[in-house]
Order: sequence, then C-alpha cells, then structure tokens
Amino acid sequence: MLIPFKYHRRTTSATHVGKLTIGSEFPIRIQTMANTSTDDVEASVAQAQRCIKAGAELLRFTTQGTREVENLRLIRERLQGAIPLVADVHFRSDVADVAAQAVEKVRINPGNYANDPALIRERFLHLIAICREHGTAIRIGVNHGSLSQRIMEQYGDTPEGMVASCMEFLRIAVEADFSDIVLSIKASDTHIMVQTVRLLVQTMEDEKMSFPLHLGVTEAGEGEDGRIKSAVGIGALLADGIGDTVRVSLSEEPEAELPVAKALVDYFVELDSPRYHGNTADITDGTLTYTGIESDAALLRLHAAAECGRLLWDYDCKRLVIHAPHADVDSDTLKRDILQAAGICRYRTEFVSCPGCGRTMFDLQGTVARIRQAVAEHPSPRLQQLKIAIMGCIVNGPGEMSDADYGYVGAGRDRVSLYRGKECVLKNIPQEEAVTRLLELLENN
Ligand code: SF4
Repeated sequence: MLIPFKYHRRTTSATHVGKLTIGSEFPIRIQTMANTSTDDVEASVAQAQRCIKAGAELLRFTTQGTREVENLRLIRERLQGAIPLVADVHFRSDVADVAAQAVEKVRINPGNYANDPALIRERFLHLIAICREHGTAIRIGVNHGSLSQRIMEQYGDTPEGMVASCMEFLRIAVEADFSDIVLSIKASDTHIMVQTVRLLVQTMEDEKMSFPLHLGVTEAGEGEDGRIKSAVGIGALLADGIGDTVRVSLSEEPEAELPVAKALVDYFVELDSPRYHGNTADITDGTLTYTGIESDAALLRLHAAAECGRLLWDYDCKRLVIHAPHADVDSDTLKRDILQAAGICRYRTEFVSCPGCGRTMFDLQGTVARIRQAVAEHPSPRLQQLKIAIMGCIVNGPGEMSDADYGYVGAGRDRVSLYRGKECVLKNIPQEEAVTRLLELLENN
C-alpha cells in the first residue's frame, strides 16, 4: 500500500504575542529558549542576538522570581523590540502576574501553578485580567512528569491526565473570553507526546476550541539522536497539520536548535514542491519501506524521521527499510535511529537530557558528553538496555525521568542528586564527583 505524503494545516485561532501573531493564518513560528541566567543581562542579550540571527521569532527566558522579571525588562529594553520575549514561570503564580506586565507572553505550567481547583480559578482569572490589560499572551505548557498531585491521583501520568490538566485552564480562559492563548503538551517519549497532542486536539474540537499549538519533544537530548527524536515527534504532528509554533529542545546552545526547527517546518510547507515528488512510503505485511530522493544526507535524515515515526505507529509496523539512492547516508544506521527514537526498538543506551536553561546550575552539555562517552566505552552490553536521564533541575527532573532507569538531576549550584528509578539514592553530591558516582551506581547494579 502506497501512502501519499501531503500537508494540510489545521485551522487555529490567532494569538497575538507582541508584534507576532501565532495561528494557522500565519507562518509556523520558530522559537527557542535561552540557557543563560536571566540575571546576567549582558550574556542574555548577546545570546538573544545570536538566536535572532539564527532565525528565532520568539525567545523564552527562565523567570524564577521578581528579580528575573526586572532583568527581563532590561533585556527587552536592550533588544529594542527585536523579538517578543516569553517569561517561563513555574511554581509561582505571583511571578506570572508580574511577568505579564513586563514581556509579551508568559508560560505557566498547570502542574505547579496551583493544585486546588478553586485556587486555580481565582489565580488564573487574576492573571488573565492582567494579560488583557497589558496585551500579553499566555502559554499553557503542560509537561509529562510535572502534573499536579490531584491530576496524578485521578489519572496517573497519562495522556488523559495531561489533557485534563490543560483543559481545566482552557475552559476558564474561554469562559473569561480570553483568546491570546497558545498550548503545549510535551513529553520526552515521542509516542506519548504525539498521542497526547492528538487527544488534546480532539478534545478541543469536541468543545469547539481551536487554540494554536506549540510543538516540541522535551528533553530530546543532543547531537543526531536529539535531532532524529525531535523530527519523529514534531514531524508526526506537522504531518497531521497540527502545529503553529515549533521549539526543538536540544542539550546544545539554543542557536543550534533553530536550523533544525526551520528544516522540519520548511519540509512540510514545501512538501508539494517537485523536489520531493520522488519520496515514497510503502507498507506491506508490517514493513514500512521509505524512499527519500534528497541528495543532502542531513536533510534526508530529518525528513525520513519526520515521516516514518507516525507511519510506524499508525500502521503498526515493526520493520523499516530505508532507500536513499542519492544521499551519502548509512540506511541501516538511520533505520535503527528512527526505530529507537519512535520507541519501537532499543539498540543502544537511551539518553534523555533537558536543553538546560537559567535554572541549570552545572555544566549540562559537558556532563551529557562525559556520561555518553563513559557509557559508550563501557564493556557491558547490558548498559545498552538502559535509559539514563540527565536533567538540569527538578522542574521536570524527577517526574519526566520517572521511567528512566537512572537519573542525574541538578540539585543546586554545582550539586547533583542521583536517582535509581524513582528513588533518590545520592542527594546533593558535588558535581565533580557525580559522573563517577553515577558510573559506580551503574556498575554496582
Ligand atoms: S529540567 Fe532543564 S530545561 Fe527544564 S527547567 Fe530544569 S534546567 Fe531548565
């Protein structure tokens, strides 16, 4: 059976984020998040300028407290309106209220905004009133692994729980007739992320809502693995016509995320162009055979991942064959990369690592590289079956890595806690010791 490739964007409403509008009448927006400390205004402005140059249309900053909000004002002034800014707020609704008066958009996490439904309503209506007055947009950003206690008790950490958490806030916004909203539901597991966003879209359609969607695979990791994983998750939804803004999360500098996001978006938007007319997918007896005619290996890899993940899931295929007649690409390696990114097979150790942000208080990128190298050099093949999480802090840390076998989580300045499954086995150890201690833990278990 030949599967046609096509792209038809889902209709969504328009959300105004300063001078930028997000929604189906407008191009899919590319965004990223700074990994500088928001209190370091010089470094943040310099990074913002590099991100703008690399194609960012929206830039998010960690906003832990009111000091960060004041520094966001300074960063915004220094950038002279070159890009709308987003304050990323967790745990403190009072900080969201202040940030809504300082920047173009505020991201809140329903999982840690408030637990009690009456309190959620009171606080969220208050935030909406401030946003309405200041022309500020809100992103309701749900994450797998950081749901509220109440939602966890009712649904567990499931797609239904994530959607219920999001809808609770959306219904309040609709009732208050506030429409400058963008939604995101992210997970590091690509299949869970795709299933959940599809469920959210269906639930919204049932309730006649059409808010724009922000897509991303959270904690996708780095290097080729991170790019393929992002392409599998984000590509599956773009292929459905879902997605109005995209952030690729890599444990690299934010500037490196932007070309990946742009390449994915451009592929779907230009899918009708003759340059892709020879690309095909055939499904026979549970085997997906993908042919990509691109001559550029790096693009071909992204496009194949963007198409194959959803086809493997939707048609219940367990086998994949890749033909790349014009590109210098190792088809077998690409096949394994895609099957692993889609969660269908595990060929090597699975790494989940966050992109880092202003909350990260240790050298995240260096740590990821050291752990990956140490594990790759280890003689035990059993390590290949493990899932290891490396997280900058506890916001998404312990929750998002709950299905990881081991976790390395930032606990404070240059301090790290190590987890075995959900259990914290070493708390607040110095960063210099932490990689060695993690390897000892792996060896001893
Ligand atoms: S888990 Fe990583 S990216 Fe997420 S808030 Fe913590 S440090 Fe930032």
